Amino acid sequence: MSELRWRLADDERNGQPALFSVDGLSGPERGTGKLSGLEFLHVTAKRILNEVPAQSRMPFRWTINVYRGCSHSCKYCFARPTHEYLGLNLGEDFDRKIVVKINAVEKLRAELANPKWTGEAVAMGTNTDPYQRCEGKYRLTRGVLEALAQRGNPFSILTKSPLVLRDLDVLTTAAVRAEVTVNFSIGTLDERVWRATEPGTPNPRRRVEAIRQLADAGIRTGALIAPVLPGLSDRPEQVREVAETIRNAGGRVLGVLPLHLRPGVREHFLAWLAEYDPALHADYLRRYARGAYAPKAYGERLRANIR
Ligand code: SF4
Repeated sequence: MSELRWRLADDERNGQPALFSVDGLSGPERGTGKLSGLEFLHVTAKRILNEVPAQSRMPFRWTINVYRGCSHSCKYCFARPTHEYLGLNLGEDFDRKIVVKINAVEKLRAELANPKWTGEAVAMGTNTDPYQRCEGKYRLTRGVLEALAQRGNPFSILTKSPLVLRDLDVLTTAAVRAEVTVNFSIGTLDERVWRATEPGTPNPRRRVEAIRQLADAGIRTGALIAPVLPGLSDRPEQVREVAETIRNAGGRVLGVLPLHLRPGVREHFLAWLAEYDPALHADYLRRYARGAYAPKAYGERLRANIR
């Protein structure tokens, strides 16, 4: 805890705008019941609407992430390095020590009321899952949706959890005044691969059911088939099944993306794979020898398959 405090203070010393107030840090609070095994670090956010750097190729300019870390614990999670910035590790700490921006809703209301805010679309689920397990307890994502809905501000959500259905009332109200999108990521419907690679997430078939209910309620919804894991979930019939299931539920297929292994995540994922399937581990070392991305032709084959 003292190290985390030091790190937060240090960020400010280095001239970077700190995301959290050092004085507002408290915890850890230990999870109980469904949250047992998790720890929560409460922080006071200095700002909640986060502007994506102009040079980023992301299709959105503003994001909100009310948590940091994610108990969904996907082995391949691209957001893991965000925890290292806090002095926590990108492995077990990312899965179990969740930073909670406890004042997120009140901060957002103040930022939305600022005359300088122009009402641009806001993306959620870009660095952590807004509907991970602790959202059942903190309800910060729900509070954020309510604030955006009242302002008539457009937003999109990316999640792996059907917990989003809890907030269907807010989503349908918000969708009357502004564009609202709820998307899922579904990389596989294969039970064995899902259990091994996304051990803290709800079953992907429950995500499909959520797509169906959202579509029935008139909410724009769909799923990204991502990440597709070579040798685990990339057989043409596996990928086609995912695409067909999403479409049959009334969702749009937003695309298909092969696994991307940025530094840090690469070491974490490959260490897990070396234990899970040593032969496949050797194959990945060859496939990803040139860097973080799978070869272009591989991605093209996946896209052709779902077309
Ligand atoms: S649900 Fe998303 S943010 Fe959470 S661990 Fe999985 S990939 Fe990472």
